[in-house]
Amino acid sequence: MSSGHHHEDDHHHDHHHGSLTHSHLPSDPVLRVKAIETLLTQKGLVDPAALDALIDAYQNRIGPQIGAKIIALAWSDPDFRAELLRDATKVIGDMGFTGLQGEHIVAVENTDDVHNVVVCTLCSCYPWSILGIPPVWYKSEAYRSRVVIDPRGVLSEFGVDIVPEKQVRVWDSTAEIRYLVIPQRPHGAQDLSVEQLAALVTRDSMVGTGLPKTLGEAT
Ligand code: FE
Repeated sequence: MSSGHHHEDDHHHDHHHGSLTHSHLPSDPVLRVKAIETLLTQKGLVDPAALDALIDAYQNRIGPQIGAKIIALAWSDPDFRAELLRDATKVIGDMGFTGLQGEHIVAVENTDDVHNVVVCTLCSCYPWSILGIPPVWYKSEAYRSRVVIDPRGVLSEFGVDIVPEKQVRVWDSTAEIRYLVIPQRPHGAQDLSVEQLAALVTRDSMVGTGLPKTLGEAT
């Protein structure tokens, strides 16, 4: 069962969130982390040094460069790409990148016929383990509500104009399933190394609100 769900007429959104993460905390990630840290430290529940290690991981080690590497591998290795589409959770887990809450990751690929874009309509579920901290717009009410109703309009505001012949699919994330968009490899990039390819992959291109850099833009 790797197909997940995308928006058609009916919308199932199973949301089970940790009690701390959503209700009474500020939306800015930095303030949020600080608030959680203060709360947990005051209650004697955590060692501040352990929290520092966790924060360091999210700020400095876990970020969109991990997703970019995964996309670059998918662009250069058809077998890897097929495995990623078949079971992204396993492939990414085997590479050592697992979510803190064990959420599933589903890869969806852009083609000449389909453009995929990811949202969490209820809050801000996001593949943190491979894309890092979500951007502010991803969590905004405007994005969450409008991308479902008018995906082409919203994409256009991001500078991504999808031709009418191409279908746009909107994937609604949940606490259990997070989506990773495999963008189309830029033209002329077939001879690049994995490292060179990774440099073309932008965070937004893995959410579907952007496109990879072109070869000209990369240098
Ligand atoms: Fe959410």
